[in-house]
Amino acid sequence: MTEYDPRTATGIPTEPVGSLPRPSKLQAAYAAYDEGKIDKDALEAEQDAAARDSIERFEATGSPIISDGEQRWSSFATYPITDTLAGTGLADNLGPGGQFFAIFADGHGRQLPRLTGGPLRYKTYAADTLKKSIGYAHVPMKQAVIAPSMLALLYPLKDEVPGYSREQFEEDIVNECEKDIRKAFEAGAARVSVDFTEGRLATREDPRNPWTGAGLLPHFIELNNRVFARFSAEERKKIGVHTCPGGDRDSVHSADVPYNNLLPSMFQMNAGYFLIQLASEREKDPVYESIGKHLRDDADGVAQMAYIGVINPGNPRIESAEEVRDALVRASNFIPKERIGATDDCGFSPFSIDEKPNHGSPDYARDVAFQKITNRVEGAKMAAEKLGVS
Ligand SMILES: [Zn+2]
Repeated sequence: MTEYDPRTATGIPTEPVGSLPRPSKLQAAYAAYDEGKIDKDALEAEQDAAARDSIERFEATGSPIISDGEQRWSSFATYPITDTLAGTGLADNLGPGGQFFAIFADGHGRQLPRLTGGPLRYKTYAADTLKKSIGYAHVPMKQAVIAPSMLALLYPLKDEVPGYSREQFEEDIVNECEKDIRKAFEAGAARVSVDFTEGRLATREDPRNPWTGAGLLPHFIELNNRVFARFSAEERKKIGVHTCPGGDRDSVHSADVPYNNLLPSMFQMNAGYFLIQLASEREKDPVYESIGKHLRDDADGVAQMAYIGVINPGNPRIESAEEVRDALVRASNFIPKERIGATDDCGFSPFSIDEKPNHGSPDYARDVAFQKITNRVEGAKMAAEKLGVS
């Protein structure tokens, strides 16, 4: 585990969620790979070039902690189980045509594979791709991983998978998630955050997507806490949870779900910090207030930190450093200033194939993302100065 003090550089800690848009050239390479026109080495060469460029440009933003933009992943949710979104390189015991993970506000959906038997094992751990990228970095890297509560959706909502009980499957994904986190730290990650975008969606009750009406949130919290229970308080200071209303093709899946359906339960997870979408919320004060109310001083030995979303990755308008500063200062009216951090509302492109329609192209969206991150870092410093946090 790399030693990293998140306050040193900016006073108020600041950290990205994880992903960046894949360059058009890389997206074309994924398509060519799916069509059998290029081989795996050729795809990996493009992933490597994109990861290297992402790290260089991330470092240029001044961010004290960076990621490789998940350039080597099919998506934030499916990296352990498939090489591409089209399903090339699917892990054992999975087939096409599972549940929809989400149906987004613009009408498009993202579907998971279907579990056909057991056991489920990760094919790729986050550490496998981190190891390929970390040599390019000169500053600490974070790693995002997927939550067992997302992978739980691979199991059919109502039916049993023959020979593989839901209980056994869930034990397997809890074990795999623990391993994913431990391996990421071993590979040099300074911090690991767990993507939990399904949390807010879990109370949406969308009739087109039955699991969202099945009352799964308490079960999700319990599953994730089974993973956190395997880490010491010292380790959990460096383990976070990310919540958002989704982010794909510049659209969202659960922004209309009241935040308070989620927040009181979310902080029951014994994670050390939370990366919380907020910049795109219309009414921010009630959300700050709820965070202040529910953030725990003692989550099984850890005082939780709230990283406030100050950047909207779905909107090409670049937030100024002053806006970032003002949002953090405002949040400090509701949340103790020593417990506040700054983050982006979501990854800038959680899925590998994403045209970023509001931006016009993924390449332009990358330029925008780096400028937004630069301003987030600068704004966090300005807020720390104004609030006297160091
Ligand atoms: Zn997100």
